[in-house]
Amino acid sequence: MSALLKEIKQRDPHHTHFHQAAESLLNSVSGYLDQHPELRTQGLLARLLEPERVIRFRVPWVDDQGEVRVNRAYRVQMNGALGPYKGGLRFHPSVNLDVLSFLALEQTIKNALTGLPLGAGKGGADFDPKGRSDAEIMRFCQALMAEFHHHMGPDIDVPAGDMGVGMREVGYLFGMYRKLSRSFGGAFTGKSLDFGGSVLRPEATGYGLIYFLQSMLTHQNESLSDKTVAVSGAGNVARHAAAKAIEEGATVVTLSDSRGTVHAPEGLDDAHLDAVARIKADGGGLDRLAEEFDGIEHYQGERPWRFDCQVALPCATENELEEDDARRLVDNGCRWLAEGANMPCTAAAVAVFKDSDMLYAPGKAANAGGVAVSGLEMSQNSRRESWSAGEVDRRLRDIMERIHRRCLEHGGDDARPDYLTGASVAGFQRVARAMLGQGII
Ligand code: NDP
Repeated sequence: MSALLKEIKQRDPHHTHFHQAAESLLNSVSGYLDQHPELRTQGLLARLLEPERVIRFRVPWVDDQGEVRVNRAYRVQMNGALGPYKGGLRFHPSVNLDVLSFLALEQTIKNALTGLPLGAGKGGADFDPKGRSDAEIMRFCQALMAEFHHHMGPDIDVPAGDMGVGMREVGYLFGMYRKLSRSFGGAFTGKSLDFGGSVLRPEATGYGLIYFLQSMLTHQNESLSDKTVAVSGAGNVARHAAAKAIEEGATVVTLSDSRGTVHAPEGLDDAHLDAVARIKADGGGLDRLAEEFDGIEHYQGERPWRFDCQVALPCATENELEEDDARRLVDNGCRWLAEGANMPCTAAAVAVFKDSDMLYAPGKAANAGGVAVSGLEMSQNSRRESWSAGEVDRRLRDIMERIHRRCLEHGGDDARPDYLTGASVAGFQRVARAMLGQGII
């Protein structure tokens, strides 16, 4: 273990997610650092792995029964060398500084990989939106913004959505920001089209994931149209990835949520996906999908990885795919895995993929489509323009193909590229150069 990693582990022994992300990054760039010793100077790695700033604050709000509730919120402003801090806000009971720090580190490399002028941050609160009324969600968003508006702005920090934060929440957050700052600036992305949002932002992460996957397949003279695909999750990323894969001719056989998995051996279709969106908006579970449609089975407490597939797309949450799942996928003939979620595969699972014929694409490359279209939303806001769906989709496809090429540059462009090394080195290289050029700050 490097001395730096040891120091990080000693300093924050409970930040296990952050240790996992930092170790993966340091291992992936170590060969490149040996060839570029100048990048080990100026304390560059230690600075990269320490947030520029962390803001922690309480969010007091009143529920529908008149009870005062207090949640804890954070913003990790990780790295601003390439532009304003950029990254989502997550509302989930599991949110803590460890989870947000790992997400912010992943975001740093991801945003650099897009080639856009974006720094990196991540934030959120341990607030559980499930079962809360619309009025409670609004009051919570407004209470959070009462503090956070001091720390953000179009050239400072530009948040967006993540788990538990969709267009409705972004609307309430943006509204309060606008009132308090008295400015309509593009200080949020993922906004509604009615007030400065970009078309295709909700779809962007899922669609971008499929565009990246198609680049992987094309590189091997393969096509998505004859593949069986297992998707996990039933949220924004999962549903749009499934929809685009179906549009491209693939057979999508699974979706999942925190309660279980649905399996459709003959494949899901758009009517199923519309029903999933409706059921999830109602706060229901995927068991209802199996009740509503023939040909779909629900498996309580199961993950999708036991079902036969050639392509696996984990799109739910961190560490949802463990070593045993990885072995089962490999044994069942799965050959491609691209991460829609952030760090959904444990380190042990990634090691299994490395020892197999599986091609593994990490989220920092494969799910960069969301932040890329957020970058496009910022450009549209600052130019007072709004681009057509065709225009945004073309740019998204270009960006994902470019990210794929950058991965090949540093991960080998033979038949079996190392996408983890390629993505890590390409992103690291860009942010490292910017940090070195700006001195020790
Ligand atoms: P959503 O909140 O829309 O959906 C999350 C989904 O994951 C839900 O279906 C949820 O189930 C499921 N889930 C949560 N925890 C678990 C668990 N422990 N086991 C199984 N399923 C679980 O979030 P998003 O789709 O926006 O985000 C999903 C992932 O993608 C996250 O890792 C996020 O960081 C990442 N990501 C998102 C981007 C975006 O643009 N939204 C951009 C890049 C990455 P349930 O419905 O039961 O809660």
